[in-house]
Amino acid sequence: MRTIALVGNPNSGKTTLFNALTGSTAYVGNWPGVTVEKKEGMTNGHKILDLPGIYSLSPYSPEEKISRRYILDEQPDLIIDVIDATNLERSLYLSTQLAELGRPLLLVLNMEDLLIKDGIAIDTKRLSQMFGTPVVQITATKKTGIDELKEQIEQSLANPQTPPCPLFSSSIERKLTTLIEDDYLHDIPQGRQMRWAAIKLLEGDELFLETMPPIPPELNTYLEETRAHLEELYDDDVESIIVDQRYKVAEKLARESLVRQEVKAKRFTFDVIATHRIWAIPLFILIMSGVFFLSVGVVGGGTTPLLEGFFESLAEWVTVKGESWQIHPFLIGILSDGIIAGVGAVLTFVPQLFILFLLLSILEDCGYMARIAFIMDRQMRSMGLSGKSIIPLVIGTGCTVPAIMSTRTIEHQKQRELTIIVTPFIPCGAKMPIFALMLTYFFPNKWYMAPLMYVMGILAVITTGLLARAIDRHKETNAFILELPRYQMPSPKSVWRQTKDRTLGFIYKAGTIILLASILIYLLSSYSFAFKTVDAEESMLAIMGRVIAPIFIPLGFGFWQAAVALLTGIAAKETIVSTLSVVIGTSSLTNFFDPAGALAFMTFILLSSPCVAAMAAMLKELDSKRKFLFAVVWQFGFAYVVSLLVRCIVLIIV
Ligand code: GDP
Ligand code: MG
Repeated sequence: MRTIALVGNPNSGKTTLFNALTGSTAYVGNWPGVTVEKKEGMTNGHKILDLPGIYSLSPYSPEEKISRRYILDEQPDLIIDVIDATNLERSLYLSTQLAELGRPLLLVLNMEDLLIKDGIAIDTKRLSQMFGTPVVQITATKKTGIDELKEQIEQSLANPQTPPCPLFSSSIERKLTTLIEDDYLHDIPQGRQMRWAAIKLLEGDELFLETMPPIPPELNTYLEETRAHLEELYDDDVESIIVDQRYKVAEKLARESLVRQEVKAKRFTFDVIATHRIWAIPLFILIMSGVFFLSVGVVGGGTTPLLEGFFESLAEWVTVKGESWQIHPFLIGILSDGIIAGVGAVLTFVPQLFILFLLLSILEDCGYMARIAFIMDRQMRSMGLSGKSIIPLVIGTGCTVPAIMSTRTIEHQKQRELTIIVTPFIPCGAKMPIFALMLTYFFPNKWYMAPLMYVMGILAVITTGLLARAIDRHKETNAFILELPRYQMPSPKSVWRQTKDRTLGFIYKAGTIILLASILIYLLSSYSFAFKTVDAEESMLAIMGRVIAPIFIPLGFGFWQAAVALLTGIAAKETIVSTLSVVIGTSSLTNFFDPAGALAFMTFILLSSPCVAAMAAMLKELDSKRKFLFAVVWQFGFAYVVSLLVRCIVLIIV
């Protein structure tokens, strides 16, 4: 019995084709050790397998590992590369890698119906000639071309031929030839291709090296020299160079086999600007400014004072009623000054966050965010992040908690972790009131100070990213290829679900952690350690504040009131303002801070660890106490150093 493996990008139609070929004789199990579905069936007396969808054979995701291991270890008699013909270039990128594995290969161009719709044809003969493998065109959903495919399968099985491998530029091919001639490579496990092994050796592919004896020192020196040479020549790391080379091959194949049937006048599409090399970023900034203007400006500007007023009257009403009903003042205090004040401060932000999350979900759902991720990918990767990190960073301007949750779309572990660590540097909505307060008193009429906080946050992201990459030059940067989906009408259902989830997540935070924290802060700031009602001055909170205040003397705010505000800020950043107004009184802020100290204070709040809710999200998503601790220490340390610098700079300049 022969075995056939279906390989291809996710959503290329493998499963549809599998069903068309097998009827539905599928056996569904799991790959050993992982919960990725394993589908096996029979077609015409051959065993056929539906492998997990992959973009490349670099072993970064479990899917890629499974597919690669399967092809290398099980040596199927035929690999069918299922290609979404509307995404020819990207699919051929994978094909160039499959060609190197030394197994007979058959390209299946699926989704012919969509091609026809777009007025595009693919010259399958030409592609087959250039790539050196049979090519069959089908529409899996309509089962057209399936008979032809079955015939081709029989032919390929009867007359197995391994495809020639795609050629890279001569400088790289020369190095590969030298490596292939090296004695060391003759020890590769049976069935592996020399060229493939040489590329893996050059890339330093860990999974490959595990299967090999240790590299002899001379070869190692040669490898290092070669890598350095190529890196200098191409100004990139070796792995990226190879990725680039593959893309060039794929691009050429796609370009030369695509035939546009009706020559449509080149219409102006939104993508011309949205993915333009220069205009994409200004457009992005413009769109984001619009989003903020609508949510924070229009909606927030309208609803915040209303809700503030509402919660104030509610607290007052509770106090008055409570007193008239002779409820214990302790309970009234907790309710009105603790719970209503604290939770209310958070709930005040709900309408504008709702609009913010709604607009962002629409941008995500219609495919725009994917474009930004695509455009930013290169720059972001140079800081150890992923193009997709843009999404959490943008959501982080609303609230860090859903932002950290949204890092789940980042496939690569290290990029994801780094994104989680840097996302809190982006000032969330709750930090805005503090900045607004401080700016009003210390930098009136200096409009550029507010955007400056964003700039500072972004710089912190960049600095941390660059440092992380300098320290850990882990070569896992090209783990995946971003998809550029078609624009589509946002689906109301998914937009609504995302918006609802994020908003409810925020409200949930108000209802749990902030509720408890508000009660705690109220108690700590109203009672002494002997549990007597006292002025704020002698409260437990003030005493704690006095203990930690000296740490902040160098930063220019080493008094207990500021320390207390920062402590309460751990519960929720919004409470910093209310704490300051209780323990200092906003009008006398200028008696405590000087402008340099005020700016340092703002900087410290901007960069130090976020509120408990966000920290809880960090811990959950990092899923490691050690990494979490590192993140928190880094955020505090970084905040401290930068605040100190900011203060010194202001002192020197002004
Ligand atoms: P897999 O991820 O590779 O297993 O892809 P699936 O078989 O699950 O197909 C992904 C999507 O593409 C499904 O919605 C299919 O209905 C659709 N699809 C598959 N083949 C074709 C095709 O030939 N034409 C069109 N228009 N859609 C297809
Ligand atoms: Mg599938």
